[in-house]
Amino acid sequence: MNTQSKPLPTVDTLNWSPESLKQVSQSLEGSSPADVLRWGFDNFGDGIVLATGFGPEGIVLMHHVSQIRPETIVFYLDTDLLFSHTYELRDELVKKLGIRFERIHSGISLPAQAVRHGDKLWDRDPDTCCLIRKVIPQRQFLSKYDAWITGIRRDQTAFRANTGLVEWDYANKMVKLNPLAAWTSDQVWEYINEHDLPYNPLHDYGYPSIGCWTCTKAVEPGDDPRSGRWAGKAKTECGIHLPSVKEPKAENI
Ligand code: SF4
Repeated sequence: MNTQSKPLPTVDTLNWSPESLKQVSQSLEGSSPADVLRWGFDNFGDGIVLATGFGPEGIVLMHHVSQIRPETIVFYLDTDLLFSHTYELRDELVKKLGIRFERIHSGISLPAQAVRHGDKLWDRDPDTCCLIRKVIPQRQFLSKYDAWITGIRRDQTAFRANTGLVEWDYANKMVKLNPLAAWTSDQVWEYINEHDLPYNPLHDYGYPSIGCWTCTKAVEPGDDPRSGRWAGKAKTECGIHLPSVKEPKAENI
């Protein structure tokens, strides 16, 4: 881990605005992920949480958190549709890193969802399925905090290309840190190998990006790494990183 830190930027207000966060983000450009995280921990303490879907980026961030501020809550969205390998990885990370996980769930079982919306909602209306099982539960959970940390990177999708290291999250009305925004996939994997960290074994079988088993397919070498997510559909994001969240109508949930 890079221990060479440059001085962290300060802003004389706790009333964060999109503009003040842009300044912070610009002054953090070129800093290590550890420094971006330290800035977040210094400013938000117990008010900041780390999100993970157990992808390689999340593992890099969990390793940082375990070394810098291990008491930080790491949360994941349990849709009831994760691969068994993902649950096994979670348990391995608890043992290896001493991470404190919080499971976030919609409170709506799959049978209850099927009664309300019909079977296999993810095939017919994945946006509503993600809204019910991911976006709304996460939004409710995050409403208790001031800031959250994600593993998104600029080169993952066109939508993520302008991701700031620190930014205002308009959908959740809070601060969002993306300490790996400037990293490449190669850097992520180099870090994982260098630190001998566990990862989802499906990555070795053509699954570069892993979500619910119902919406994740293996891809061919050289394909867009995210092309296995919602393959054959226009959807590319589950909605938790979109700048605005469509307000759910009561009849939709
Ligand atoms: S990824 Fe698929 S199954 Fe999972 S919540 Fe979204 S639509 Fe539903």
